[in-house]
Amino acid sequence: MKLFLLHFLKFVIKTFIYTFLDNITLEIKHNFFYYKLFYFTVETYYKIGGLMENIFDNLEGENSVFKDKKPLDHRFLPDSLPHRKEQITQIAKHWIEALNNITPSDVTIYGKTGTGKTAAAKFARDQLGEAAANKDVFIRVEYIRCTDYTTEYQVIAQLCQKLGKDVPNRGWTKGEVINTFRSIFRKNAYGKKLILIVILDEIDILLEKDGDGILYTLTRTKNVSILSISNFIDFKKFIKPRVMSSLRDKEIVFPPYGANQLADILNERANLSFKDNTLKNDVIPLCSAMAAREEGDARYALDLLRTAGEIADDEGSSEILGEYVRIAKDKIEHNKITDVIITLPTQQQRVLEALLILTKSKDEITSGKLYDTYKEVSKGDSVTYRRIFDFINELEMLGIISTNTISRGRGRGRTNIISLQCDTGVLETTLFSI
Ligand code: ADP
Ligand code: MG
Repeated sequence: MKLFLLHFLKFVIKTFIYTFLDNITLEIKHNFFYYKLFYFTVETYYKIGGLMENIFDNLEGENSVFKDKKPLDHRFLPDSLPHRKEQITQIAKHWIEALNNITPSDVTIYGKTGTGKTAAAKFARDQLGEAAANKDVFIRVEYIRCTDYTTEYQVIAQLCQKLGKDVPNRGWTKGEVINTFRSIFRKNAYGKKLILIVILDEIDILLEKDGDGILYTLTRTKNVSILSISNFIDFKKFIKPRVMSSLRDKEIVFPPYGANQLADILNERANLSFKDNTLKNDVIPLCSAMAAREEGDARYALDLLRTAGEIADDEGSSEILGEYVRIAKDKIEHNKITDVIITLPTQQQRVLEALLILTKSKDEITSGKLYDTYKEVSKGDSVTYRRIFDFINELEMLGIISTNTISRGRGRGRTNIISLQCDTGVLETTLFSI
């Protein structure tokens, strides 16, 4: 309707301009008033044109299978988290203490990537916020991602800032920052006792980089409760006994999702993201099955689904087909490997180049053979044979290669056989594009 009116208005003005031009061209030259009127009319005409068309209009919307891409983004926090009720309830059972003005126990969440740890913690945070709104308590739940704040100083400074204290991001001593942080609890502007729950997501990164000082400080500050989240079950190896003893945490495990659970998660998100009748029936089961094989990773499942949708758009298809999921898998894999390879140090890239040459000539690759080829590739600028072993270990950790020790038979010792674990085509294109 709006568009129709605009079209009509445009038509009227256009006719007006033409009549104008026919009759009064001469007068425009002499009469300032007519000149202004003419100018104003033309300007309005173009403004209306501007309202009607925008170059982006044709690129998105109309021809897309998406009605809203955001729900398929990792950062999107859905209203409900299927299959995590039990874990969220466990967090809530500890945090409910805060509603009675008691500092809750510390909690630790473990689970592999994409098992919903971050989402569940944020969900519990929002729920507690709602519950606390009607109560006479003063609770704050602050979320810190330790990949963004990687030292004790940065975390405490960030907490101070979130709680309204002006602390610089660097420059003060750690003692000064900690004192400022603790002063918040001594007396606060609201006149109520503050209970602070700190969510330390990806805590292993902080502990490995900066030691366990952060836990020491937080566990020794009254009214602070910690929720630590880690992808690794053994992250406590970074915590010394003296700190361990004050971190009397309750542990909650997030198991990997099965294929059916992933399908439930994807169905909810797909309804929010895709237009009706765009998804073929086999798409979600395919994404779920593939992601279940990748250790039940919901993030990967969402990536597959979103990428499959993007491929449908690229192909100009009004439906998302099962075969797009397979293309999506290769595309994601491709990007992942490419990202890793281009950030490797040059010498390691040369080791990969040597591996590529040997793999193509279908040789059995021993470390000795690899070293010889590597030396040819690097033309004099090479590292020692010993160093190559470190490289092999690192590349194996990254999942780009695998090694297999075989016995050559009595008295002839054991040999390491190396093989590439990524697509040779992808490796080749990446190495030669650097
Ligand atoms: P983790 O922190 O364990 O690596 P995330 O919480 O970041 O995993 O989850 C990855 C993605 O999967 C996020 O987009 C999240 O919203 C989604 N997700 C995970 N679990 C669920 C669930 N049970 N229901 C809905 N979405 C989920
Ligand atoms: Mg996370």
